[in-house]
Amino acid sequence: MHKKNNINKLAVGSTVTVCREAARPKQLVRAASVKQEFLIISTKWVRMSKKKGTGLCSMAEEAIKLGENKSKFIDKVKEHLPDGGNLNLCLTCGACSSGCPATGLADMDPRKFLRMAALGMDEEIKKSPWPWLCTMCQRCIYVCPMKINIPQLVYYARQLTPREDRPKGILGSCDVALRSDTCSAMGATEEDFQFVVEDVLEEVQAEQPGWEDLQAPINKKGSYFYLNQNSREPVTEADEMIPLWKILHKVDADWTYGTKGWAAENYCMFLADDEAWEHITRVKAKAVEDLGCKVWLNTE
Ligand code: SF4
Ligand code: SF4
Repeated sequence: MHKKNNINKLAVGSTVTVCREAARPKQLVRAASVKQEFLIISTKWVRMSKKKGTGLCSMAEEAIKLGENKSKFIDKVKEHLPDGGNLNLCLTCGACSSGCPATGLADMDPRKFLRMAALGMDEEIKKSPWPWLCTMCQRCIYVCPMKINIPQLVYYARQLTPREDRPKGILGSCDVALRSDTCSAMGATEEDFQFVVEDVLEEVQAEQPGWEDLQAPINKKGSYFYLNQNSREPVTEADEMIPLWKILHKVDADWTYGTKGWAAENYCMFLADDEAWEHITRVKAKAVEDLGCKVWLNTE
């Protein structure tokens, strides 16, 4: 058994098996007889494997092996991290993982992902579907005591995969959105959108007592708010648009939809396609400016 204070005598990259009490604070020890494998990284102890049923593991199920190649994206990533991009700033507190909706999917969580990135494990990250399961919700940034920007890291991890090999659903949605100035990932046209909005509005005015004066303006120049709408709603769930119209009506908001740039979604961002993402955003921003609106309300 290796004692913790012997760590400096071990080679970086080697693995050792130790009793749990050699590396864990006494108060965390529940089964001192259980042996665990550790990987030596500099002077740090990192727990890398779990014997089933021990109940204390929250990191890797499999032993993690350091890649021999230098990470290709780590330098880029570091530009976006605090204090000169030192990934070792991570305290491994696990706050990011505890609130992450993608924790546990594909045997991954944000803390483990960050460790792998810090170790330069590009190939392992590239093979994992997990970067595509992260929702980019940014919850991990809010809870992280070091404000480490994991979704930015995920974004760059997605770029490790060639564009044509990225998930077909996201890829196809981005490509469809790029085809028109509506930016609709479902391919809904300007005319489709206007027709559905006017049709639904007419029905509400005619059939819902008290809402005869409800409005859903389109291309109303000089409105204060420009409202975006996810394509899914006019295309498949048109009634879902009504509650927001009613709220805006009740607060007497000055708002409008636009026939251009009305689709709120931006799959090109999820695709990690910088150029396409920027294009979609610029088309939408132009639509807002062309109508002279002050505030762009994106419902996504
Ligand atoms: S919350 Fe921040 S410091 Fe804690 S494990 Fe996650 S990335 Fe590291
Ligand atoms: S941005 Fe990704 S990693 Fe962070 S909490 Fe959301 S799903 Fe998890």
